[in-house]
Amino acid sequence: MISGRLQHLNDNPVCPCGKFVLYWMQQAQRVEFNHALAYAIERANELNQCVVVGFGLMEDYPEASERHFAFMLEGLAETSAALAEKRIKFVVKKGAPDAAMSGLARHASLVVCDRGYLRHQREWREEVARTVACQVTQIETDVVVPIEIASNKAEYAARTIRKKINTRRDEYIHTCAMPRPKKSSLLLDVKEDVDIRDWRLVLEQLSINRSVERVTRFPAGPRAAHQRLKTFVDKHLKGYADARNDPANPECSEMSPYLHFGQISPLEIALACQQARQASEADREAYLEELIVRRELAINFVYYTPNYDSYECIPDWAKNTLGAHRNDARANVYTFKKLEKAQTHDPAWNAAMLEMLKTGYMHNYMRMYWGKKIIEWSATPQIAFETTIALNNKYFIDGRDPNSYCGVAWLFGVHDRAWQERPVFGKIRYMNAAGLQRKFDVARYIAWADAL
Ligand SMILES: Cc1cc2nc3c(=O)[nH]c(=O)nc-3n(C[C@H](O)[C@H](O)[C@H](O)COP(=O)(O)OP(=O)(O)OC[C@H]3O[C@@H](n4cnc5c(N)ncnc54)[C@H](O)[C@@H]3O)c2cc1C
Repeated sequence: MISGRLQHLNDNPVCPCGKFVLYWMQQAQRVEFNHALAYAIERANELNQCVVVGFGLMEDYPEASERHFAFMLEGLAETSAALAEKRIKFVVKKGAPDAAMSGLARHASLVVCDRGYLRHQREWREEVARTVACQVTQIETDVVVPIEIASNKAEYAARTIRKKINTRRDEYIHTCAMPRPKKSSLLLDVKEDVDIRDWRLVLEQLSINRSVERVTRFPAGPRAAHQRLKTFVDKHLKGYADARNDPANPECSEMSPYLHFGQISPLEIALACQQARQASEADREAYLEELIVRRELAINFVYYTPNYDSYECIPDWAKNTLGAHRNDARANVYTFKKLEKAQTHDPAWNAAMLEMLKTGYMHNYMRMYWGKKIIEWSATPQIAFETTIALNNKYFIDGRDPNSYCGVAWLFGVHDRAWQERPVFGKIRYMNAAGLQRKFDVARYIAWADAL
């Protein structure tokens, strides 16, 4: 099924004088279930060449801090070792990925890249395709159903994309065979800027934003992702349909940090879920709905909505109703700093913010409540939009993801419908603390967060 995942990004030929096939790794930071790597090896074997895997390490990556870099570098060290076992050299170059990879590609016969959907990821790929002399081929490996195959437009809601995805889903849920490279690149003379095997030293020496510290809740890397997936499938998938909405006792997979950095493939997760006979079909389908339909709806959103990170991206009905209530009196208005320090009058909200600050994660239900309250407590909906995106991306390990922009936009009516009109919110959906009490043991959650 590689054909639906493949796009040539330029019209250049394969370069006859190239020394290797370059796989530019960016989104899919793993070896297993990586269609882009598999394709690069296949092409290299045909050309009787070796594969080099290149990675551009950008110290001023948009909104990234030590929290994100630590998670990524630890995962890359493991991926580098897994590549070495396959006799493939992993070369980390410092700088913006497009510039770093264009340099490395000077000696390549062909560049293969994975696919990213955010603006800067797309621009990097366009730039590499424009500047290198050889063919650049993109392989889409971080979704189950390739984006254009699922839909050719921005979808209104989960209900409009569900059928489109689900009718194609089984064509794409297959294992990804990884060919053996015929030639080793380990001794090739290609200079790297950092030795990623010593990722702790690399982390120490980088000039990065240190304002957000590392967290320990999630051990990083493909191995940790697989262990967590196994525990989830063995112990928690059974019951997921009912228990996933309980933040005090969550039955969730916590795959989002690993998915964000491409340390695990959604396809591999989907396969493991489908094969889990100990869970009911309802549990399996509930999980696949989140992993495939909701996640790929978010990707559809950022891909087809150019201003996905601005208040302007929300639908007109939502803008109009929020605009009509813009000057409504607010009982509480909190500054960014107060919110960031978890200093509001609402203990459940403060607990959620503490979870985010201290662990880099928050349960989906609390993310919804957390964001809706920021709308209620901000002077204007525009300020609320900017605040939620900024906090989301600063503290979540899985932040800066299509799901981040889509999750925040959902708070403001994207992929949702109009509800009964009320102050401040107008017709966009409202959530209150009483709803939390009905759903789960809030006191237990607050006590847990306080102890963090
Ligand atoms: C305001 C707000 C902000 C959000 N910010 C982010 C973010 O920065 N990064 C992020 O990855 N997700 C974000 N989400 C979506 C969702 O909350 C997380 O993906 C989920 O909580 C991750 O936990 P999990 O892996 O244990 O989920 P599980 O319940 O185990 O689900 C498995 C996978 O399905 C996908 N998924 C689950 N729920 C959703 C959803 N509602 N929308 C889209 N995909 C989903 C995720 O990839 C997740 O890892 C946000 C949601 C909201 C409402």
